[in-house]
Amino acid sequence: MRLIEKDDPAVAALIQKERSRQETTLNLIAAENTAPAAILDALGSAFNNKTAEGYPGRRYHTGCRVTDELEQLAVERAKALFGADHANVQPHSGVNANLAVYGAVLNPGDRIVSMKLSHGGHLSHGDAASITGRIFQPSHYGVNPETERLDYDAIRDLVRQVRPRMLVAGASSYPRLIDYQTLRSIADEFSARLLVDMAHIAGLVAAGAIPSPVPHAHFVTFTTYKTLMGPHGGVILCSADFAKKIDRSIFPGTQGTPTLSLVAAKAVCFHLAATPPFRAVQERTLHTAALLAAELDSRGYRPVSGGTDNHMVLADLRGKGLKGDQAEAALEAAGILCNRNVIPFDPESTLVTSGLRFGTPGISSRGMGPEEVKQIAGWIDRILSKPDDPSIQKNVAAMVADLCRRFPLRDRLEG
Ligand SMILES: *Cc1c(COP(=O)(O)O)cnc(C)c1O
Repeated sequence: MRLIEKDDPAVAALIQKERSRQETTLNLIAAENTAPAAILDALGSAFNNKTAEGYPGRRYHTGCRVTDELEQLAVERAKALFGADHANVQPHSGVNANLAVYGAVLNPGDRIVSMKLSHGGHLSHGDAASITGRIFQPSHYGVNPETERLDYDAIRDLVRQVRPRMLVAGASSYPRLIDYQTLRSIADEFSARLLVDMAHIAGLVAAGAIPSPVPHAHFVTFTTYKTLMGPHGGVILCSADFAKKIDRSIFPGTQGTPTLSLVAAKAVCFHLAATPPFRAVQERTLHTAALLAAELDSRGYRPVSGGTDNHMVLADLRGKGLKGDQAEAALEAAGILCNRNVIPFDPESTLVTSGLRFGTPGISSRGMGPEEVKQIAGWIDRILSKPDDPSIQKNVAAMVADLCRRFPLRDRLEG
């Protein structure tokens, strides 16, 4: 910080302010986490200054001896952590990782089948607003209206009708486990490839806290910054027979030079994710999410699908006569951060919504546990019972500030 304070006080001040905002608010945004300081060190390292098109041993620049060692280390760690044959650690983001998988095995105009965005899927799975929806011909499956869970018979019917070249699974707001084995058998039956995008849950999978898609999918993509607690970036895993195609599809197919400081940070992330404290944080994340779902449920905020098997809770606000945008703003006024989210078959628009998505990775990595989650659920209810009452928000904000002081953000992983 010292040099940036001298050389660019404006940005230095913003970094300080942002750090303090994170320190003093309760982060229940399911897609976020706090990376240990070792990750930030790697991001701000000398590897930023290296340009290295290509792959270890096959670069289009000189001076890559150390860079090659670094990328190989990151690849080996990713493979070991997830039990994969091959890993590509160069994707700049989760969306880039998905684009490269499509590029490796699909042609423009090919059919894909994926989960619809409004039921929890992701833009990059062929949604109309994404370029993936224009390049390919997507058909979407959703959840069953009664169970609010994936209906594998319906998915099979859709795949049988559409005969896609790729079946895509994985979601941004689906609180349940996914049956990868069944999806693979559906893909195999109709000669489709299976891509599982495990962006949200990669940390839980790395810790062995929930089942892994790696043994079942042809391709697995993920981001390293959500439950995995690493930098903002993407990774592709695949079996050995697709290794060359995937690597070529990242470079030169969809990216230029890798960001080597980001590769360094991913290497640190995979190292830390193999340690007992990381597993303890992931187990606590699962436990606190289940507890949050139960606590909200008992107060009349129905968890979509009845609960959760992962780190997130999708709350249906209709029973309280509330809208997502209004509820999100009322909670933010008290320092409780979550996001409005459409629920399956939501009558409201994506800007308004009938739901709130909560996640427990952020509070679990700063050490909060069951007692704190019970308190937080009570505060959420107090605020949402009178969302237009600023005095309640002020009152809760003081307790939020106190809780945050008792559980400071951690620079190192602790169980
Ligand atoms: C978050 C997310 C991504 C996007 O990753 P970016 O790093 O923002 O590109 C992709 N897929 C799923 C399922 C996600 O939840």
